[in-house]
Amino acid sequence: MKILLVGINAKYIHSNLAVYSLRASAGKCFKEEKNIKIEIVEYTINQTAEKIIQSIYKAQPDMIGFSCYIWNVMMVQKIVAEFHKLLSHVPIWLGGPEVSFDLEWQMQRFPTAAGIMYGEGEGTFPKLIEAYASRKNDIVSDAFCDGDFKRGVNEYLKSIRGIIYRDQENNIITNAPAEIMDLDDLPFPYDNIEDFQNRIIYYETSRGCPYSCAYCLSSVEKKLRYRSLEKVYEELQIFLEAKVKQVKFVDRTFNCDHSHAMAILHYIKEHDNGVTNFHFEVAGDLLTEEEMILIGSLRPGLIQLEIGVQSTNEKTLKAIQRKTDLELLKNNVRTLLKNGNVHLHLDLIAGLPFENMESFIHSFNEVYQMGGHELQLGFLKLLRGTPMMQMKEEHDIVCTDFPPYEMLCTKELSYKEVLRLKAVEEMLEIYHNSGQFRLTEQFLLSMFASHFDQYAHQ
Ligand code: SF4
Repeated sequence: MKILLVGINAKYIHSNLAVYSLRASAGKCFKEEKNIKIEIVEYTINQTAEKIIQSIYKAQPDMIGFSCYIWNVMMVQKIVAEFHKLLSHVPIWLGGPEVSFDLEWQMQRFPTAAGIMYGEGEGTFPKLIEAYASRKNDIVSDAFCDGDFKRGVNEYLKSIRGIIYRDQENNIITNAPAEIMDLDDLPFPYDNIEDFQNRIIYYETSRGCPYSCAYCLSSVEKKLRYRSLEKVYEELQIFLEAKVKQVKFVDRTFNCDHSHAMAILHYIKEHDNGVTNFHFEVAGDLLTEEEMILIGSLRPGLIQLEIGVQSTNEKTLKAIQRKTDLELLKNNVRTLLKNGNVHLHLDLIAGLPFENMESFIHSFNEVYQMGGHELQLGFLKLLRGTPMMQMKEEHDIVCTDFPPYEMLCTKELSYKEVLRLKAVEEMLEIYHNSGQFRLTEQFLLSMFASHFDQYAHQ
């Protein structure tokens, strides 16, 4: 039985941690004698749906799993619908944050999919394979889609937690959520690390987030868990020995546990190979003195940090339930930049409650003034399952119906103003975030009233 796990990434250098983690978990459960082969194929959203369909068809899988998130789900929808016309007997399963909420709606959105693994998939996926592999002999023949087989599979599906699926009568059945996993039960996802020489490796040492930012999916699931340091050290060593270029930690707030963060930073300092760079998302105001000293002692280029400021408007921060000590954050950013050994990336979000144009310009200038190497101007996205959805009416937030469900306008911000901010974002990417015009930027600033005006001037 051949199972194809499909990742459609934004860029070639990205890799899809989800499909590697699913394959590793299933690989732990199934041995050769079951004749189960799990292959990963990765594409980019810049490839055409036709090319991807051709490639999947040529692989002749018996079952397909797609990893879905806001940036690829429209492409996945198209592929799933078209592929079904060609090999309708091949069950297609979906997973990922973009399909894990509003489950019934998701099933309508994918009328030809067999089902969705919602929530954490690593425990669910091997059971799903077992359901289909239990009738392996049928799967490789035309009998795959006969009633008997479906009934057989459905008997299995009934007992698998964490799925929603179509039964033999095409009824949609939602099973109870899967148990929350112990992260130490997950096997290391990358068995051929040498394949990642020119790609970014995504790596996870914790799941969940203790904070409650209203726009974020990680605020919904509160079960914060960590992978044991013993395992983390072993795995970091694999990256270091392979001299991979960059490891991006997907931990939602890397420094929310001080001892965990310190231990990892110490390890990478002591085992630095002079090549590998590590990327962490941190809460800028939570960086302790001890962490700051340790970070200040690292080789220049060993780590890069991403700090989400999002807004400097206190009313906005309160409304989105984001507790930030802005003064502490600014001080820490200042110190990090003074030390000069860490690349710093700061984030802002336009379209948050109570943030009108004037307030956003103020946030922009304040964050720009902090002086990070990159400033990412993002736009609010209204994601299913987040508390922000409940605030939509109160703040007249209008967003696109299609992914990434980006805000078009709000009570405080008109679409015309959003377009102005879009133009600023574009200028910022070209002239600031590229890092190629530092002197020109400084020179030009003297001609404008503020940093914002410098990028908004048309
Ligand atoms: S935005 Fe960051 S800090 Fe806030 S809930 Fe999400 S992951 Fe946690």
